[in-house]
Amino acid sequence: MMPARALSALEIRPYRLRLARPLRTARGVVEHRDGFVVLARDGNLVGRGEAAPLYGTESLAECFDELRKATLDSLPAAPAARHAVEQALFDLSAQRLGVPLARLLDARAAESVGVSALLSAETMPELAREAQRAAAEGYRTLKLKVGLANDYARAAVVRDAVGPNMKLRVDANGAWRRDEALERLHELAPLDIELCEQPTEDLAGLETAPITIAADELVPRDPDAALDRAQVIVLKPMLLGGLLPALRLGRRALERGRQIVVTTSLDGAIARAGAAHLAAALRQTDLAAGLSTGRLLAEDLCSDTLAPRGGSIRIPDAPGLGL
Ligand SMILES: [Mg+2]
Repeated sequence: MMPARALSALEIRPYRLRLARPLRTARGVVEHRDGFVVLARDGNLVGRGEAAPLYGTESLAECFDELRKATLDSLPAAPAARHAVEQALFDLSAQRLGVPLARLLDARAAESVGVSALLSAETMPELAREAQRAAAEGYRTLKLKVGLANDYARAAVVRDAVGPNMKLRVDANGAWRRDEALERLHELAPLDIELCEQPTEDLAGLETAPITIAADELVPRDPDAALDRAQVIVLKPMLLGGLLPALRLGRRALERGRQIVVTTSLDGAIARAGAAHLAAALRQTDLAAGLSTGRLLAEDLCSDTLAPRGGSIRIPDAPGLGL
């Protein structure tokens, strides 16, 4: 699947993108995203890839160092740098073949992918309005960060605002200890929670939890433990070192009877597009993908032709990423 003809060198372009507003998670506050766009040229074709380091990948400085040393024969070892170079080469290959990237990854790729909306409002009235706006836009799944103050009250405000038919998932980003997690999940369960991402660091001993457990941060750290301990596997190509490692792990999870959620970690439009193609290649249909994070950015790398509409992303027919 990798390009056969000789290519010119990779081009690295640093970027900084402002968030629409600071995003508060159990790990701290994120105000902007720094990363790199990698371009691979072949004649007048340009393949694009993105490296957006965050928790769980190499640092920004390490990423730049790895990208500078990258050659077309050997992909970088660090996950975000590897993601960028691999994605640029896949985009280029798909353009040469004249097929969307999703179809290069899997000939039976889906044509569209349902996505969830991540709610980020801080006050209760704003949270209710944000949830109602997402419902009006056509989202069928909402996601709320927990492991913060007032988890139950915030989740209840969202549930009341959108009614019983909306799927509501929560994400603790590993904030709880095991006993605390079981207690919190029992509190939240009556609100009909679809799943909880990463209630604790290692997800051990949560077999009796009344809510479906999803592994997220644990997945790149220990994929086997994630497959053993969680019913749902969150796949972040940026943290897993690219689209192909994520595709392989996704297929392994599906073979084990697990469900998957393809998502990004606050990436720019290029990496989000890659993740959307991956979700389509894995034919993710049961659960919404976490790919509406573009709305959290105040500015972006390019115009987003894969932006969600009516709660889903249509994969463009254009060759490559279709951006
Ligand atoms: Mg998560």
